[in-house]
Amino acid sequence: MILVVNSGSSSIKFSLYEYKNNNDIEKLASGMAEQIKVNGKIIITYQGNKHEIDISLPDHKVAIEAILSKLDELKIIKDIKDIQGVGYRVVHGGTISKSSIIDEKVHKQIQDSSKLAPLHNPPALLVIDKFKEFLPHSKHVACFDTAYHQTMPERNYIYPVNIEWYKKYDVRKYGFHGTSFNYINKKFEEIVGKEKNNLIVCHLGNGASICSIKEGKSFDTTMGLTPLAGIMMGSRSGDVDPSIINYMCTSLNKSPNEINEMLNNNSGLLGISGVSSDIRYVIEGYNKNDKMCTLAIEIYTQKIANFIIQMINQQNQKIDAIIFTAGIGENSQIVVEKVVGKLPLLNISVDQELNNKKYEDYIKINTPTSKIDIYKIRTNEEIMICKDVITFLKK
Ligand code: AMP
Repeated sequence: MILVVNSGSSSIKFSLYEYKNNNDIEKLASGMAEQIKVNGKIIITYQGNKHEIDISLPDHKVAIEAILSKLDELKIIKDIKDIQGVGYRVVHGGTISKSSIIDEKVHKQIQDSSKLAPLHNPPALLVIDKFKEFLPHSKHVACFDTAYHQTMPERNYIYPVNIEWYKKYDVRKYGFHGTSFNYINKKFEEIVGKEKNNLIVCHLGNGASICSIKEGKSFDTTMGLTPLAGIMMGSRSGDVDPSIINYMCTSLNKSPNEINEMLNNNSGLLGISGVSSDIRYVIEGYNKNDKMCTLAIEIYTQKIANFIIQMINQQNQKIDAIIFTAGIGENSQIVVEKVVGKLPLLNISVDQELNNKKYEDYIKINTPTSKIDIYKIRTNEEIMICKDVITFLKK
């Protein structure tokens, strides 16, 4: 069995997979521990039944203990030793280029990268340490959001600032959502039966970024040193004039940290619409002609279109497909329609019926005359992490 873990500051999401030696992977159960340090709740879905357990979870250690004992109580696992491997989603891995067994060196790299992902890496490390304590017999594997982007050429990851910032302080573009882009690239290979494709993948979730995939590898991406950069997001601004920070520190008499926090949590769709960071509510306003919701949707889709053009220009070769994925990309017809509508120079178009059609794991939605194929593909970061763990179990 393999456990896939995605931890935040107050939650631990997990999925349990069974894998057979013939490479069949089956999801057995999933769930989460939430409201850690506040109240506490464990939710486990198993065999179609959802179990919700209110339980005091003062810290991550207690939460992990509770998850393991509930898995045991519900008879989902017979023996804790059946969990052969644990895969962790880790947001920042610095320059580590692939999923890695968490030895001392990798542990230190995750710790060192905490300064670049202060909200994500510390809780991940805490959870890793605790699971290692409870499951000493298992292989523990870190899968980094940044790893897939390590193939970007220097000219795409070096910022036009004093080069000493890069040399001394690691200031460079790292990129995120790598596990999702990796999955989409592999899934596209499977769909078309061909490797080394040139793709523009728009991962549009609460956090959002676009990846330019050249011959199967990350060539450029919109997120940067941190996940604040690039396209506008649910509550993050994406790229803005960096002088805004200094200016607003002075204007609001706030610290750079406080302004940074506002750019992360009170900007984007939420900041402009004043309604929500969840695009479904902003679209509701847009459909009722609400002025600020309409403005938010127009800016959001324009920013995405602008980056798509920039990335196609940079690749300077035939693009096999533009792909939309993650919560918004997979589900919002209006966003896909508007983004494509804002790319008139590409001579691409979406078939409205296909765009509105229900689909399983992917759908091709362009019209026959579109110059580039357009797909919606459901991402699956968990299965990617699970497969990486299996690779280590086989070694
Ligand atoms: P993710 O980060 O990939 O889980 O995406 C979460 C976001 O996807 C939510 O905040 C919503 O804005 C968006 N989303 C989820 N379902 C839908 C839907 N049916 N239509 C439009 N947007 C959706």
